[in-house]
Amino acid sequence: MSTLKAVRGTRDLLPPETALWNRIEETARRVFARYNFGEIRTPVFEDTALFARGVGEETDIVSKEMYTWEDRARAASEKSQSLTLRPENTAGVVRAYIEHKLGETGQLQKLYYIGPQFRRERPQKGRYRQFSQIGAEVIGPPSSGSESPLRDAEVLEMLATLLDELGITGWTLNINSVGSSADRARYNEVLRAALKDVAPKMCVDCQRRAVTNPLRVLDCKVPEDQPYIEALPKISDSLDEESKKHFAAVTAALDAAGVPYVRNHRLVRGLDYYTRTTFEFTHGGLGAQNALLGGGRYDGLSEAIGGPKAPGIGFAIGEDRLVLTLLAQETAAAAKVDAFLAPLGEELNPAALALARELRRAGLSAELGDGSFRLKKSFEAADKTARRIVILGEDELASGILTVKDFATGTQTKVPRAELAEFLRKSSGE
Ligand code: AMP
Repeated sequence: MSTLKAVRGTRDLLPPETALWNRIEETARRVFARYNFGEIRTPVFEDTALFARGVGEETDIVSKEMYTWEDRARAASEKSQSLTLRPENTAGVVRAYIEHKLGETGQLQKLYYIGPQFRRERPQKGRYRQFSQIGAEVIGPPSSGSESPLRDAEVLEMLATLLDELGITGWTLNINSVGSSADRARYNEVLRAALKDVAPKMCVDCQRRAVTNPLRVLDCKVPEDQPYIEALPKISDSLDEESKKHFAAVTAALDAAGVPYVRNHRLVRGLDYYTRTTFEFTHGGLGAQNALLGGGRYDGLSEAIGGPKAPGIGFAIGEDRLVLTLLAQETAAAAKVDAFLAPLGEELNPAALALARELRRAGLSAELGDGSFRLKKSFEAADKTARRIVILGEDELASGILTVKDFATGTQTKVPRAELAEFLRKSSGE
């Protein structure tokens, strides 16, 4: 008999990796609670019509990736029904919002979820057929302030905080605005016209998209097509005054909060329900599937699935990709020495050697810089070889208080020399 294996695109998660999954989920719950989010758990399968209407018939998800089956009636009183394993959770949350009349409270609803999603995609690193998303939605009647750009900025600031607290370094926040549905319709026509001449020179997918869904051309990754795409009109030029104002308010609030971002004119996202703000956090360490999370505003979604007007904004983090990123970071960190000692001036070299000797004899790994290095060079060398840099200047020698900078967290700490070994050991989690 042939041995049975987990189905293609699905995986078993085993210890010790499951401890990391738990840590991620605990951190997310803790951060969400600080922003007044509560947990929602919706069913893993739903009526197929929810996704057809809520995600959009034209999307890749609905047109080719859903696990759908006809559920047979068990009794004369039941009807057979088309059901689908959820490919994402926003539609389910909005369905629950409508079903439980949460809008009637008049309050803004802040809901988060953690759970498996299912898409029949081509499996590769970071892309699975069963994967887990950690997501949240902020939704409510317009009177609750659900349309306010402040909500967009709050959600983005929360995500930046969550990634930082998870210890994910080197993320990039890409944001854009796809405007109102009228703006999008206008831009689709602008693109359609612009693509008339260029599309025949592009890949077959783009040739098809140029007719069926021109916006999707912006997602194309084929290298030869990139110059054509870069030369296309930008969606920012098709936005009306209201949409422009909304987007400017989002970026102003991000600036005020000190959250770094880049505007990415090509970020239009795969789901049909997005309006105005769209965003994605990417990470260089992930390779081709570089999106850690994605989201945006969906002011018309509730109405699209038969509910009241309920603007909202939300996101979904790929938990599998958080795990991959953290594992890669930990491996990289493990290959580095505990500390790089940077003497500020050649006369401090002997003191640096003495300190290195102490640390090494205490069982820590250390690399020695050289007093002839300029500070910038010391930092560059340290970043490549060590997890932290310890600065040793005249002042430090005299006061006995050393400055330690941790590269992963960016934090700088003053540590008495006598406690340095203990500090380095503790902050390594040993
Ligand atoms: P989406 O629901 O398509 O907006 O995706 C949100 C996030 O979920 C993405 O940025 C990915 O991190 C993650 N994700 C989406 N599809 C998959 C998949 N097939 N496997 C693993 N993660 C995924």
